[in-house]
Amino acid sequence: MSVYLELRAGIRGTVRANEPLSEHTTWRIGGPADYFVEPAGPEDVQFVTRFAAERGLPLTVMGNGSNLLVSDTGVRGVLVKLGRGMERVLISGDVVLVQGGAKLSRVIRTAAEADLGGLEFMAGIPASVGGAVVMNAGANGVCLGDRVEEVTLVDRRGEVGRRSGAELGFRYRWSDLQTDGAIVTEVAFRCVPRSRTEIGREVERFLRRRRETQPLEHPSAGCVFKNPAGDSAGRLIEAAGGKGLRVGNAEVSRKHANFILNLGGATARDVITLVGQVRQLVSEKFGIELGLEVNLMGDF
Ligand SMILES: Cc1cc2nc3c(=O)[nH]c(=O)nc-3n(C[C@H](O)[C@H](O)[C@H](O)COP(=O)(O)OP(=O)(O)OC[C@H]3O[C@@H](n4cnc5c(N)ncnc54)[C@H](O)[C@@H]3O)c2cc1C
Repeated sequence: MSVYLELRAGIRGTVRANEPLSEHTTWRIGGPADYFVEPAGPEDVQFVTRFAAERGLPLTVMGNGSNLLVSDTGVRGVLVKLGRGMERVLISGDVVLVQGGAKLSRVIRTAAEADLGGLEFMAGIPASVGGAVVMNAGANGVCLGDRVEEVTLVDRRGEVGRRSGAELGFRYRWSDLQTDGAIVTEVAFRCVPRSRTEIGREVERFLRRRRETQPLEHPSAGCVFKNPAGDSAGRLIEAAGGKGLRVGNAEVSRKHANFILNLGGATARDVITLVGQVRQLVSEKFGIELGLEVNLMGDF
């Protein structure tokens, strides 16, 4: 049986061959995945990890694709996307238990309906819970790792495990999950009692600030570079004269210099070339080597 048919037979969720990843990244960039799997539950994640391990197929994981630059030639082997099908959000006391594919916006809203707060600072980050925990996404001076009680993982052999937040090595845009390779299938967040009206007001304030300071009218992956210690990558790029720099249809935003925009039909090659130019500018002007915040996927 072909890989495609075997995956179809073993999985409840979606399986597609040659799926264009430009439809699954917020940059709207990326070539095809050989085999694209959207699991309908943790048992699908276990099946696909075992399947890939047994056949020696490369296995790649994504969430909402909001921090990814996928190569124009795409991704070989099996790509697992946690999204639709793994979005359940449950409330138990002041703990919010969420499957890895749920969007942060939905988690904030569901917690608010139970008068639980503590996740408002994430408003406007277009991430899945799994991706946000792996990246230790943050905003407004708070990181998601600060709220994680426990995660449930499926390792590359298909075994289920649990780890507490304290065991995940969270620091600025980092968790040990980035090198571990395990797939986050569920996260328990510890929240605090807060009225839904107050939460709604705060969320609206954060969203307004994003609309004022970020170029949300074009596809992007948010901040491209990490902030160096004690400084901001956006400030450095702007001061080095990087705003408006363009390669093909990729452009450094004039509103927020740490964003690279897809003006329509930009390729991964356009973006990576522009990344190189921006790095060189900042290095020549300030002697600082900017590190990438976005993850590269596929061949570059
Ligand atoms: C407009 C905009 C604004 C943004 N603002 C912010 C911000 O304020 N703060 C911030 O921190 N980020 C921000 N980002 C970046 C991005 O949203 C975060 O990095 C987010 O955490 C990525 O989540 P994701 O689900 O899209 O993950 P993806 O981009 O799909 O994946 C990111 C990484 O996580 C891995 N991964 C994803 N899901 C799983 C899983 N379930 N198990 C194991 N590994 C997994 C992937 O392999 C990849 O290495 C912004 C992006 C955009 C487009």
